[in-house]
Amino acid sequence: MYSVNIERIEKDLYELANFGFNPKDKGIYRQGLTDIDMQARRWVMQQFEANGLKTHMDGVGNVCGRLGNPDKPAIIIASHLDSVPAGGMFDGTLGVMAGLECIRVLRENNIEPKHPIEIIGTSEEEGRFGGMLGAQALSGNLNFQWLESARDPKGEYLKDAMQKCGLDIHDALHCRRDPASLKAVLELHIEQGPVLEKQQKTIGVVDGISGVFKWLVKLKGKADHAGTAPMDMRSDAFMGVADFAHEISRIIDEEGTDKSRLTIGRVDLKPGYAHTIPGEAHFTLVGRDMNEEVMQQIANSCGKVLSSIARKHKLRFEYEQMSWLEPKFFSPKLVDLIEQQAKELGYSYMRMPSGAGHDIQFFTDITPTGLIFIPSVGGVSHAPDEWSHWQDVEQGSNLLLATLLEIAQDKVSIDQ
Ligand SMILES: [Zn+2]
Repeated sequence: MYSVNIERIEKDLYELANFGFNPKDKGIYRQGLTDIDMQARRWVMQQFEANGLKTHMDGVGNVCGRLGNPDKPAIIIASHLDSVPAGGMFDGTLGVMAGLECIRVLRENNIEPKHPIEIIGTSEEEGRFGGMLGAQALSGNLNFQWLESARDPKGEYLKDAMQKCGLDIHDALHCRRDPASLKAVLELHIEQGPVLEKQQKTIGVVDGISGVFKWLVKLKGKADHAGTAPMDMRSDAFMGVADFAHEISRIIDEEGTDKSRLTIGRVDLKPGYAHTIPGEAHFTLVGRDMNEEVMQQIANSCGKVLSSIARKHKLRFEYEQMSWLEPKFFSPKLVDLIEQQAKELGYSYMRMPSGAGHDIQFFTDITPTGLIFIPSVGGVSHAPDEWSHWQDVEQGSNLLLATLLEIAQDKVSIDQ
């Protein structure tokens, strides 16, 4: 049985964490399609090249390193290199650097894979522009209209951010991989939630990803002097947000399941002065479930509740649906294979869905896919104190390697 060298993975992850590290809050600021993100990508390409991979950056900034026989369908190991603002050092990067470590093990042991293996550090997964640009480009889930119109929360256009990075939206549509050129896609990722730790398991064998919708909600009232406007004569937009926040648990109880989630992640009050009644409140609303019908019921209920709250506070309610991603299910044969390998390695594991979106979800319709989780300490992620124990990183990486070898050497059939 072959094993990864955890010290090399550890070294790589610490080096990568330097790109965008902020000593003040100890967070990593490496948002997609920024200068520091591109610097990190160039560093990763150097590591790919140093390990004998045929390396290139594609038209959206995905960095790709490939080993082996060019004529057969490839096994892709992919995860992302960008971070949220003040993110941690494992989210995404783990899957890329563990993939590279698998390559090192193969080369050191003179294993010639029957299928080419490609490690991909994907571009802009964290949704600065409202999607998962890199994985969408690779899987053919992009359209030009979106590329032209997508903007980040500060108003910067995707096309401008790409241009600053030396990329062109016209090239984005050429990144698509022919499904016939793919054998499988694998991803190793931190759980980013508390379940594995609580259940005292090292490995999550993920069978699906929750669907997710994102709304930008606007409640519009009237900005007034906070001293002169009587309490009963106000159209205070923040009061609408506050009322709605209190309705969330009821909406989930009535329309949702134990896998449902609803979150207000950002609120902007306008004009945003201490002595002025907020005339407008803009907020994000993100909903999730494993069942698309349930998602629809939750969304409908949010709309009704917001309308009635708006009436009560004399506000205008508007919303824009920024995205709607349906739930995704991984290939049963590949999920079984991962479970079997975890068993053979003697690791504690459980099957589970993923509440968070991941690059791999875009490949479920075109090729066999498998996602492996390792525990996040305290369930913390997207924060500076995101952490996973090195022993868990090692076991997750060994499981990735074992699964990769089974597929690369045609030991099992995973075709659906
Ligand atoms: Zn991630």
